[in-house]
Amino acid sequence: MQHFMPTRIVGGKHALEQNAGLLRKLGARCLLVTGGSSAKMSGALDAVTAALEQQGIAWTVFDQIGPNPLVSACYAAGEMARAFDAQFIFGIGGGSPLDAAKAAAIYAANPSLAPMDIFAMAHKTPALPIVLLGTTAGTGSEVTRISVLTQDKTGRKRSIAGDDLYAHIAFADARFTHSMPFSVSYSTAMDALSHAIEGWIKAPEDDLAAMFARQAIPPLWEGLTAMQRTGQLPDDAMRARLYEASLYAGLVINIGGTAFCHPMGYVLTEDYSVPHGMACGVFLPALLGRIKRFLPGMETELLQAFSPLGFETMDAVGAQLAQLAALPEIRMEETAVQGYADYWRANPPKNFAASPGGLEPEEAAGLLKSLFC
Ligand code: NAP
Ligand code: FE
Repeated sequence: MQHFMPTRIVGGKHALEQNAGLLRKLGARCLLVTGGSSAKMSGALDAVTAALEQQGIAWTVFDQIGPNPLVSACYAAGEMARAFDAQFIFGIGGGSPLDAAKAAAIYAANPSLAPMDIFAMAHKTPALPIVLLGTTAGTGSEVTRISVLTQDKTGRKRSIAGDDLYAHIAFADARFTHSMPFSVSYSTAMDALSHAIEGWIKAPEDDLAAMFARQAIPPLWEGLTAMQRTGQLPDDAMRARLYEASLYAGLVINIGGTAFCHPMGYVLTEDYSVPHGMACGVFLPALLGRIKRFLPGMETELLQAFSPLGFETMDAVGAQLAQLAALPEIRMEETAVQGYADYWRANPPKNFAASPGGLEPEEAAGLLKSLFC
């Protein structure tokens, strides 16, 4: 077994307020990286700035990170960090500002790095220390060595990964997720469920991946089915379970990576503005189908995780998942589907090859047609 995950996770109610002293070790000046409104709306920005001030740490904010962060915005945050002489970067938000904070930490430490050169992950100086505080219960970026960026020119998403992208500290207090509206709550839970399944089946021999996935799946399933059934937001207790589950699911992709649901989901986000979690989740029933065909041992393991939820077969899980993850509003032209197949042929996603049975671009196109044409 091999495992490396150096992030100090400080979880629970008032985790930040009670452990603010940890920040002082990282430096006396800090750049905060946030989206336009969620850091304020969730109360996280006030809590973080109060903690920094209590510790005598000078701060400034870059709040221009949109969903699916652009390389140019991350670069601008890195330049601001350098101009402010920041010694560490503090990302506050959902996966987008957290991933942007990771990229900004690389740019800040490497003044000669051109924006697009970040994808080579060959920068000489490691990223500045990173602190993350999540406001969505989805990506698990708090505990991964991954950052997903959108290229300005093409609008296509591309991820980077490196050990210097692990947060030094992740403050994990579900109270900052309470302000999420229904659509964000639902989609981010779907993202986390996708991570738990995709990452687990990519690392079938890894006991830690199995352990983390088994922890993550039941609360995510219960949260999603309750939200769909009632149309209501989760209560505080469920919010806490969902947030913790999203971290477990992040630990799973940190081990196994994602399967084809993620690269296929990217095109739905890029071209149809589907939120990340729903964009990936819609392909999960197809993934279950391929697990049944190509990884029968893994299907048995998955069923063990789903049986406490009342399931006797994975076909039944797949049928309910198809309802939970449906995107009835998306319609595609066959020519658009062919365009995606051409794109994937020219830029083969490594997650296709590493998916059960290996997914060919033509098969991916067939899946798009069956769902959206
Ligand atoms: P997000 O893109 O960070 O945020 C989506 C929307 O929700 C934004 O409008 C945001 O507002 C709002 N929001 C966030 N927290 C809120 C809160 N507490 N209250 C009210 N509104 C809130 O969503 P996400 O799904 O967490 O992140 C998706 C990104 O993460 C994608 O780019 C995806 O590719 C990436 N990702 C990364 C990893 C990883 O391991 N690094 C894994 C999976 C996905 P603001 O714009 O104001 O912030
Ligand atoms: Fe994801």
